[in-house]
Amino acid sequence: MIKKYYLLSPGPTPIPPDVLAVASEPIIHHRTPEFSEIFMQVSEGLKYVFGTKEDVFILTSSGSGAMEAAVVNTLSPGDKVITINGGKFGERWGNICQAYGVEVKEVVLEWGDDFTPDQLAAELRANAGVKAVFSTLSETSSGAVYDIKGYGEVVSKTDAVLVVDGISGLGATPCPMDEWSVDVLVAGSQKSFMIPPGLAYIAFSPKAWKLVESAKLPKFYFDARKAKKNLEKQTTPWTPAVSLIIQQKKALDIIRNLGMEKLLEHHRVLGEATRAGVKALGLELLAKNPGNILTAVKVPAGIDGSKLVKTMQAKYQAYIAGAQDPNKGKFFRIAHLGYMGAFDIITALSALEMTLDDLHFAFEKGSSIRGAEKILKENWQ
Ligand SMILES: *Cc1c(COP(=O)(O)O)cnc(C)c1O
Repeated sequence: MIKKYYLLSPGPTPIPPDVLAVASEPIIHHRTPEFSEIFMQVSEGLKYVFGTKEDVFILTSSGSGAMEAAVVNTLSPGDKVITINGGKFGERWGNICQAYGVEVKEVVLEWGDDFTPDQLAAELRANAGVKAVFSTLSETSSGAVYDIKGYGEVVSKTDAVLVVDGISGLGATPCPMDEWSVDVLVAGSQKSFMIPPGLAYIAFSPKAWKLVESAKLPKFYFDARKAKKNLEKQTTPWTPAVSLIIQQKKALDIIRNLGMEKLLEHHRVLGEATRAGVKALGLELLAKNPGNILTAVKVPAGIDGSKLVKTMQAKYQAYIAGAQDPNKGKFFRIAHLGYMGAFDIITALSALEMTLDDLHFAFEKGSSIRGAEKILKENWQ
């Protein structure tokens, strides 16, 4: 058979053909009016996706670079913060803060568990003088989505700022920054923004910008004040990733033409269809509050989870993601973010069924496809 590659992972994600094509255009110089025009269109488009009237800065790095930028631009040595660690990425907030000598009060959750705004309010009461609360919108390692709107209501009543990692979530699940009182929001290009890895985005609220002006942590490349000064001149402090920015302009055109509301509805339907499919197989979800970005599914008893993922990838070329340490082998993740269509869900479920059959798991053949099709058809637009 022809070995067709099916990318079903939560980053990098598939890219629309039109967006791939513009990467092969001749490179242009970045200190020119031609580039500035594209750059400013991308800045405006990002504001639309972020739901903010503040500047959105474009950094040349993967998403973690914007996470580091959020920390170094808002904090000073010895500051106290709360981090919500419900998985690999929530844990990363704590690791970055600790690397810079910030005092971290970490809320450690079981992967997939929820953390309510009331629980956050209690944490804030118990920890006076906290400068910032760090959360994740969509915890990509577990598929859980947190109540950022609720966190915003709690944190905005305090002196602390709310910093949110929207790297996989933004563009696939709601997180309107200004409306939800998010103070720092970060995103990455290879998740829902439909371009390759290499760009990261970050925006600060006026409340966060006050911290930026006094933050004493060391920084050079990721200094937001330099980024702001340059954005006023329609440019970046350093050589930008020109081709990626041109690709982002094309992908933002697609997003804007569809509109945020329809884009989020699209992901809602894909999420619901995926959940219906795996439940029809008798499988269980990991997250108590599963998002529409990816679906983490518990590996059923008697099945080797690592073998399941390996078989799907090596035999069927369906590149879903396994579970990360320390939960390797316990669950697997089917992504539905970025440039994914309805039939990508069918592909994933079909490869999953064939794999489960290879591993001698008992289930009703075709049931996941029927379950997903029902949702897709009912919600077809
Ligand atoms: C992918 C991801 C990251 C890490 O981004 P990199 O681009 O790999 O640096 C951080 N947080 C979340 C929620 C992610 O999904």
